[in-house]
Amino acid sequence: MCGIVGYVGEQHPKEILISGLKKLEYRGYDSSGIALKKDDKVQIIKTVGRISNLEEKLKKTDLLDANIGIGHTRWATHGGVTEENAHPHKIGRVTLVHNGIIENAANLKTELEEEGVIFNSNTDTEVAAALIDKYYDDNALFAIKKAISKIKGSYAFGILFDDDDDKLYAVRKDSPLIIGYGKDGNFIASDIAAIVNYTKDYSLLDEGEIAILTKNNIEVFSNGEMIHKKVIHANITAEDSDKCGYEHFMLKEIMEEPKVLDNLFKKYENFSNLPDLLKYKEIHIVACGSAMYAGIIGANLLEEKCNIKCYVECASEYRYKKVIYDRKTLVILISQSGETADTIAAMRKAKEDNIDTLAIVNVETSTIAREADNALFIGAGVEVAVATTKAYILQVAMLALLTIRANQNKEALMEAKKIPALLNKVLGDREIFENVAKEIYQVHDAFFIGRGIDYAMCMEGSLKLKEVSYIHSEAFQAGELKHGTISLIEKGVPVFAIITDKKIMDKTESNVVEVKSRDASIYTITNNNEVPNHGFRYVVPKVSSYFQSLLVVPVLQLIGYYTACYKNLDIDKPRNLAKSVTVE
Ligand code: GLU
Repeated sequence: MCGIVGYVGEQHPKEILISGLKKLEYRGYDSSGIALKKDDKVQIIKTVGRISNLEEKLKKTDLLDANIGIGHTRWATHGGVTEENAHPHKIGRVTLVHNGIIENAANLKTELEEEGVIFNSNTDTEVAAALIDKYYDDNALFAIKKAISKIKGSYAFGILFDDDDDKLYAVRKDSPLIIGYGKDGNFIASDIAAIVNYTKDYSLLDEGEIAILTKNNIEVFSNGEMIHKKVIHANITAEDSDKCGYEHFMLKEIMEEPKVLDNLFKKYENFSNLPDLLKYKEIHIVACGSAMYAGIIGANLLEEKCNIKCYVECASEYRYKKVIYDRKTLVILISQSGETADTIAAMRKAKEDNIDTLAIVNVETSTIAREADNALFIGAGVEVAVATTKAYILQVAMLALLTIRANQNKEALMEAKKIPALLNKVLGDREIFENVAKEIYQVHDAFFIGRGIDYAMCMEGSLKLKEVSYIHSEAFQAGELKHGTISLIEKGVPVFAIITDKKIMDKTESNVVEVKSRDASIYTITNNNEVPNHGFRYVVPKVSSYFQSLLVVPVLQLIGYYTACYKNLDIDKPRNLAKSVTVE
């Protein structure tokens, strides 16, 4: 969600900013822009839509011979998707880009308007620019500090001052921002992927720290004192940002699932390096989107196999509701990026109540990884496609491993070794799933039904289909369907039935027959040859319930993927979606 990149140095910033913004495209955006600065002149160029639109516009523009610049991809929160609302914004002598939401923007705006400020956009961001300008006399550091003391909400800012030569300023709260150390210049960025072609050495800017970057130097201030920052070296390979011959990152990342699973299982082959969840009486799994659905599978396993009471809640609800912590509770936070704003807030809420927190994240340097009491890293590598696939699979696998650790199930640990090869076999059947996609890609609605852990898989399958193919889709507990939703079933509506849990196999099958009687097209995915075939049936290898979802959900991911292919959609960057949801 939103990308920031900034540069000050020997080179002209244009190429650096554009290549950085392209690397941040995966985060999701609807408009983009850059500001270039030379001495006291600032040039702003922005457009709505793809970065290619911005590139076109840049080609037709006489650019300043600049040595300092900031760039931004916007995911609109305040104000429509228009050129005026795109960043950078300039008020007075201050030009800035912003990721986040300024919650008290409306009040601040009224005050500033009364003082005579004229605004050109509907964004909350422009208010920040005006506020910094208001406090700017000749001391930029003072102006930033004073302004952020008045701002409520989340922000990562890259800031330029007209008459403060060759300096780039950065500050953040609850939105990510890093500083990068280059040979002939320095950088700011939302994440290291944006600047990795130029440098792999970076530091994480912590909450409230203000960085001042010049061509040769970076100074970071915390509470008015200059501080020393730890330099991190990024381990990102070229392969991470390459499609490696696949048509889309989504397919490449699905095909990587066996490999990353194998790595994870090897890392924990003797599970003593995992925390023991048995010391808790209650577990709250808090996450958003697919990560929450991974959590629901985990909760099923932990309750079923270890008798630990588990609740799964979406972070945007959990953070505001009354949570009763009346027994020894662990809060597990799941987030691929580790920067999901609502999940961060939920973690902080639990910490304020002195509740233990355990993070399951992909990005090791992320806010959640750093702030949680304990963090486990799934090791998915870079996931570029906005719709998560391999990271989701690893989140599920990590929860399975935690369950296995809790009940000391050595046998299951042995079984883990076989899973990657079995998944390879399933992925090898992808032509079958492509044929399913060919049958369904023109429908308007689809349903996924299952019970228990099968229902948890349905939720992820349904989400995957809707996010990439834009087909309306719902997941239902199979038994619940007839309490209303069955009225939507008519001839040809695809119903995907997931049936892997033997205990309730017959029950779900009865529900399948009910929708079949209403002429739905049935697609069954099961691990059991005895389950009837109503036109389409795919039988995945049967494994224990710890791992069964790791063989079923990839089938659903592939069906979603190929459906979007048939519809010729922008699969890796679906409309309106952002990968790292850093605003509420
Ligand atoms: N709230 C700001 C806006 O709507 C920034 C959004 C973003 O993070 O891209 O312009």
